[in-house]
Amino acid sequence: MPGYKLAIDGPAGSGKSTISSLIAKKLGWTHIDTGAMYRAVTLQALELGINLNEEAQYRFLETSTIHYDFDRIYINDRDVTEAIRSEAVTNNVSLVSSFPYVRKKLVELQKQAAQHGNIIMDGRDIGTVVIPNADLKIFLTANVEERAKRRYKEHIKKGKESQISKVIEDIVIRDQKDSTRKESPLRKADDAIVLDTTYLTIEEVVNKIIELTDKKEN
Ligand code: C5P
Repeated sequence: MPGYKLAIDGPAGSGKSTISSLIAKKLGWTHIDTGAMYRAVTLQALELGINLNEEAQYRFLETSTIHYDFDRIYINDRDVTEAIRSEAVTNNVSLVSSFPYVRKKLVELQKQAAQHGNIIMDGRDIGTVVIPNADLKIFLTANVEERAKRRYKEHIKKGKESQISKVIEDIVIRDQKDSTRKESPLRKADDAIVLDTTYLTIEEVVNKIIELTDKKEN
């Protein structure tokens, strides 16, 4: 029997993955971070040394497997959960994810994954393309300074060098590319509920979304 489908979209650094992962743990649901899948393809493309600008070169996806399990992501059974967060991947992922061939391949996998059980899927086109019939759609936002501050804190916590002005610049560029591309751009679904998280704690956002799922279930 199909379960509950929760779609969470939003721009870079809006907290989608952190919040989705916490909700999944609290409710015992499955979380799928689709951004991690686009990052995994980008990592593989960089490692293979293909010309990133040529769509035909992404044919390697015909034979590679991407697998997502308990917040860890694998390419051909290799755990790449940490490797996909590198600067090189972050700088190139918007280009890689703009190709219709790449999107078609990943959307196929995402649609399959969404078929079974209670699912929380986060990304940019979940409510519009991947699960248009989701039970609940949330569009998370926060002002760019707040989003950059969160990213910056994550970097520092991981011992990575970081500069707030550079983080703001990276986020603005990535949002611009993601929302202006031709193929399924970042966009709020017409029936999504917008949640501005600028002045909310992570816990407040998690509780608010769980409350909304309860309302939808009744
Ligand atoms: O969520 P995260 O910031 O890790 O996503 C990385 C990139 O993957 C985004 O900037 C976007 O280019 C791409 N993406 C996408 N569609 C999704 C999820 C992510 O194009 N559903």
